[in-house]
Amino acid sequence: MLTLYQQLLEIWNKAKGKERDAMLWGDEIEYLVVNYSKDDPKVLLSLRQADILKALADSKTLKVEGDCAPGTEANGEAGNVTLPVFHPEFGRFMLEATPGKPWGIDFKDLLTVEADMKLRRCIAKDHMLPNEHPITLTTFPRIGSPGVFTEPSYPVSGPKLRSQFVPDEIANPHIRFPTLAANIRSRRGRKVQVNVPVYRDENTPWPWKDPTVNYDLQNWPEDDDVRNGAAPDNFIHMDAMAFGMGSCCLQITFQAKNITEGRKMYDQLSPLGPILLALTAATPVYKGFLADTDVRWNQISRAVDDRTPEELGEKPLKNDRWRIPKSRYASNSTYISTDSRLRPEYMDPNLVIDPEIKQQLLDGGMDDRLATHFAHLFIRDPIVIFNEDLQELDLTKTDHFENIQSTNWQHMRFKPPPADNSIGWRVEFRPMEIQITDFENAAFSVFIVLITRAILSFDLNFYIPIVKVDENMETAHARNANLEKKFWFRKNPFPVRTTRRGGSASRSASGASTPSGGLSRPATPPLGPVEDEYRLMSVNEVINGTAYAKATSKEVTEDAEEGEEFPGLIPLVESYLDSVNMDVATRCGLARYLDLIRKRASGELWTAAKWIREFIAKHPEYKKDSVVSEEITKDLVGAVIQIGEREKRGLGIDDLIGQVPDLDKLFGNFLKGKSPCGGALKDYEAALGQ
Ligand code: ADP
Ligand code: MG
Ligand code: MG
Ligand code: MG
Ligand code: MG
Ligand code: MG
Repeated sequence: MLTLYQQLLEIWNKAKGKERDAMLWGDEIEYLVVNYSKDDPKVLLSLRQADILKALADSKTLKVEGDCAPGTEANGEAGNVTLPVFHPEFGRFMLEATPGKPWGIDFKDLLTVEADMKLRRCIAKDHMLPNEHPITLTTFPRIGSPGVFTEPSYPVSGPKLRSQFVPDEIANPHIRFPTLAANIRSRRGRKVQVNVPVYRDENTPWPWKDPTVNYDLQNWPEDDDVRNGAAPDNFIHMDAMAFGMGSCCLQITFQAKNITEGRKMYDQLSPLGPILLALTAATPVYKGFLADTDVRWNQISRAVDDRTPEELGEKPLKNDRWRIPKSRYASNSTYISTDSRLRPEYMDPNLVIDPEIKQQLLDGGMDDRLATHFAHLFIRDPIVIFNEDLQELDLTKTDHFENIQSTNWQHMRFKPPPADNSIGWRVEFRPMEIQITDFENAAFSVFIVLITRAILSFDLNFYIPIVKVDENMETAHARNANLEKKFWFRKNPFPVRTTRRGGSASRSASGASTPSGGLSRPATPPLGPVEDEYRLMSVNEVINGTAYAKATSKEVTEDAEEGEEFPGLIPLVESYLDSVNMDVATRCGLARYLDLIRKRASGELWTAAKWIREFIAKHPEYKKDSVVSEEITKDLVGAVIQIGEREKRGLGIDDLIGQVPDLDKLFGNFLKGKSPCGGALKDYEAALGQ
């Protein structure tokens, strides 16, 4: 057996002293490729990923002209554009695009990312067939439904996935992907079980039995799964990796100046994960049925859950080493910072680690917290190993470590430098759902960048026990969780706990803009019980602050006690923006994005999940029976394409409003008209004049 941790120790030793890396960041956008035309009776997933990627690679000069040119001040001067990078993804109907080079510290980059995202979408489209479109819905509403849903179409029940619902050809044919799926299945000893509660509408038969499940199939031993109870009543039943890994998300990676800062960012962004998951909710439909959940997370988690019956606790431990409480795709279970504010009570007392690997890492000089984190990742088996990698353990590479790391899909990822140590320590924020427009995707990217800078600038503290973050992750799944549910969140985010009672926390927030002005108090009072440090808050309260939430929350009551007012992440970001030099145009551009986040959190605007639900509910074909038919799916995707096509060209969507129901509830004024900054600039100038 190879000592898989050795490469990790090697790179850690090489890179632990790295200093002053630039504060770079980058986003990743994932697309579904659909085959749509007004005249075709249905919309299909296009399986031409390989051809599209090849066309993109072959066109040596991806010219940014013609269709893609107008309005794109993308990532560099005209003629000197850093072209985006396109990547394959698990689904053969998916694409991923990242900026040509990471973004820098400059605030102008925050305003360029939206144009760059539009450019990416445009270039992608230019390398597709006329009827193919890159869209940013998280999931295709009818993936796995009976009948034809891909172009070309293949029969289901192939040897790799053994799925009743999707063909093996749905996955990227690169050997890694079908092998991953097959190994997960064989390790489990059965197919994955992705069961999502169905949404119960007026005419939904109850109890509901998934009408698409075939109980008579006899092609593979795994066909017994459904006869053994894999498909319970009232759940949409899915049985393959593609149902999870075929979803699109929005990820942001940050480079820290050194390992210490990276470890702090990892910890402080962790508690924000579930809040941002709820706020970006965009996944209300699976396999042609309305679900009772709004986000994709748990479905991906189940779609790659390779735990054996022993690891799951269904059988006594005999052959396996430990029980494992979570799938390898799950919210993260460790904090890793050297921050003295990290109390032992925040850690998971039941964390499973590989003690031998931890000891080896400790013996190699790594500190306990980081060794614990990596020893937790190493409880998982490598699920795909390439033969050539097994020949020898090459310490100038990180392939063995990356193999474990890249199949531990947690909501935060701590990325060590690559083997050549050419770039710095990075932290990836992974929970967000992809949004329909690039405006929204840019808004959420920019928001996460700005809150990260506020965290570092004000030394903010969002620690709560990590198991409360897990609980929040579950809460985020509920329909309308962003408006109707409450999440555990830390009451006082400021660096030193104040003993002041009855003082307004929002006053502290504005104090934060001048860190010398009263924030840091010399004496730290003794720490009270951890339970006193956090309470339940609505997303509105976390994002906008207690006062704003009290004035605007309709669905829940805000129950902050005197002295427990939370300042709100947006006000914290604004304090940060107040503390740096910035011209009005930049500030106004950023205000547009923050406004969107603010209004989503208050319920003034809808999440994509809510908008999709309303679109379906109002469709004349919908029979209030939870069924999302081919025709509804076609019209929904058609509307999404129309929005995207207009946005790509920098056009407003005024003329779609009315044709596409409730569009203004999704975007407000943001995408209307051709002068995107006008309203926000006026608001901003008015605010300055006050
Ligand atoms: P993965 O899929 O493993 O998360 P990708 O290479 O697809 O990684 O993308 C990660 C993101 O990180 C991209 O947006 C990329 O621009 C960005 N990025 C690349 N190098 C750096 C760096 N040194 N610091 C921060 N971000 C980076
Ligand atoms: Mg990527
Ligand atoms: Mg990727
Ligand atoms: Mg990806
Ligand atoms: Mg990523
Ligand atoms: Mg990746």
